[in-house]
Amino acid sequence: MRRKLAAGNWKMNGTATSLAELEKLSSLYPNPDIDILICPPATLLHRAAQAVQANSVIVGGQDCHALVAGAHTGDLSAEMLKDAGAEYVILGHSERRQDHGESDELVRAKAIAAKDAGLIAIVCVGESLEQREAAETLDVIGEQMSGSIPDQPIGENLVVAYEPIWAIGTGKVPTLDQICEVHDFMRAKLEDRFGAASASSIRLLYGGSVKPKNASEIFSVSNVDGALVGGASLKAEDFSGIIQALENA
Ligand code: PEP
Repeated sequence: MRRKLAAGNWKMNGTATSLAELEKLSSLYPNPDIDILICPPATLLHRAAQAVQANSVIVGGQDCHALVAGAHTGDLSAEMLKDAGAEYVILGHSERRQDHGESDELVRAKAIAAKDAGLIAIVCVGESLEQREAAETLDVIGEQMSGSIPDQPIGENLVVAYEPIWAIGTGKVPTLDQICEVHDFMRAKLEDRFGAASASSIRLLYGGSVKPKNASEIFSVSNVDGALVGGASLKAEDFSGIIQALENA
């Protein structure tokens, strides 16, 4: 059985006062039936890890460097994130692929670094609107998965998030059939490459304008094991609506 995961990505949002939202979330879910993850900006990671109660909300990073240490001004290694209290790290988010030119090869190297440091990598894949309209979605997802996911993954070191770029922060959401098609494809792709046992242990998240009002129907789709949430993870009240929908799915 795959444990469901509600993952929040705060992106470049949040200062010390935002920790109150995390404390609120942690006290609302002292012993959740699902994994609840918040990835705050790196400046808050250590304080965030200290602000949450044990066995409640967990924290993660939003990116890491592919190398362990060295002359890389401004970068953070997976080991540093782990040291600050992270259990997960988001890798290959479309904003990093676009803003920082991250390739599949680099995402794969980062995922290996994350695994070596004992972190669970959430590897993001997703098509642009042009690619969807050109009926290239599955080709794009397949290529990104082949290039970004390292060999021999299991659920203890990898989560894959399907995030159509056109749905991120836009309020637009694919139809349930479209989500189902991609998630079934991703599961089959993992099975082909890694075998049924490994593939069935890896959680698949949907991300892109998930809100309390649409979460239940998205979580009803087969092979959706949770969500990666941007905007609606910033406030405990909004994220809580999504968590409840996932707990009830
Ligand atoms: C995201 O950035 O990963 C995301 C899904 O954002 P939002 O929920 O705001 O669309």
